[in-house]
Amino acid sequence: MSASDLLVVRGLVAGYGAAPVLQAIDLTVPAGTIAAVVGANGAGKTTLLRALSGMIRPVAGQVLLAGEDLRGTPVEQLVRRGMAHVPEGRGVISELTVDENLRLGGLWRRDRADAGRALDEVYQLFEPLARRRRNLGHQLSGGERQMLALGRALVGRPRLLLLDEPSLGLAPRVVARTMALLRQLRDQTGLTVLLVEQNVRSALAVADQGVVMALGRVVTAAPAAELRDDVDLRHAYLGF
Ligand code: ATP
Repeated sequence: MSASDLLVVRGLVAGYGAAPVLQAIDLTVPAGTIAAVVGANGAGKTTLLRALSGMIRPVAGQVLLAGEDLRGTPVEQLVRRGMAHVPEGRGVISELTVDENLRLGGLWRRDRADAGRALDEVYQLFEPLARRRRNLGHQLSGGERQMLALGRALVGRPRLLLLDEPSLGLAPRVVARTMALLRQLRDQTGLTVLLVEQNVRSALAVADQGVVMALGRVVTAAPAAELRDDVDLRHAYLGF
C-alpha cells in the first residue's frame, strides 16, 4: 500500500445470504484516479459498491479509506469520511425539486457555508440543473436525473465517488458528457472515482485503471489502456 492510495480493499467477502457473491476481492485505487470495474452481468460489480458503501455488511476482509479501517463504521459515518455512492437507478426523489434534491446531499455537513459553495459549484458544473432548479425530480429527462444524482453526491464534497452504471439508459452524447465531466473532476479537484459500467469502451476510455471482475473475483487489474489493447482478455471477459 502506498500513501497515495485512497481506497484499499483486502480479501473482501460479501453477499446477500449464505453463499457470498464477492470472493476475496483485492483492489487498490490511488487518490485522484478513476478506476473502472467491468465484467459480465452478475459478476458482482454492484455488490462490490454496496459492500464498500455499507449497504451490505461484508462477511470478511478489510476496507481502508485513506488508511483508516472502515469495518463496523455506520453508513452515515462513511459519508462523513468522504464516501459517496450513486447507486444504479440513481435514487432521485421524484416529489422534490432539483434544488431540494441537491440540498439533501449536503444536509449532514456542519460547514454550512461550504455546503452552500458546493451547491453553487454544482449549478455551475451542470447548467441544465440550474435552469430547472424549481422543477420536480419526475419532470427531468434521464440525462438530467443522472446529473442530479451525481450533483447531489458532489454537494457532499466526497473524496471517493462510487458510481454505478451512470450511462444506463442515456443517449451516447450524454454518456460522453458524463465521462468527460468525471475526467474534469479528477483533474481539477483530485476526485477519486470507482466506476461500475456495462459500457466497457466508454469506461476504459475515461479510466486510469481497469478492474475486470468475473464470478465474484477480480480477474485482472491493470492500466485501462492495457486492457483496451488486450484482445484475448476483451474476448474472454468483456465481449468486444
Ligand atoms: P449487473 O450488471 O447485472 O448488475 P453485477 O456485476 O453488478 O451485474 P451484481 O448485481 O453484483 O452483479 O450481482 C452479483 C450476484 O448477486 C448475482 O448472482 C445476483 O443474482 C446476486 N444478487 C444481486 N443482488 C441481490 C440481492 N439483492 N439479493 C440476492 N442476490 C442478489
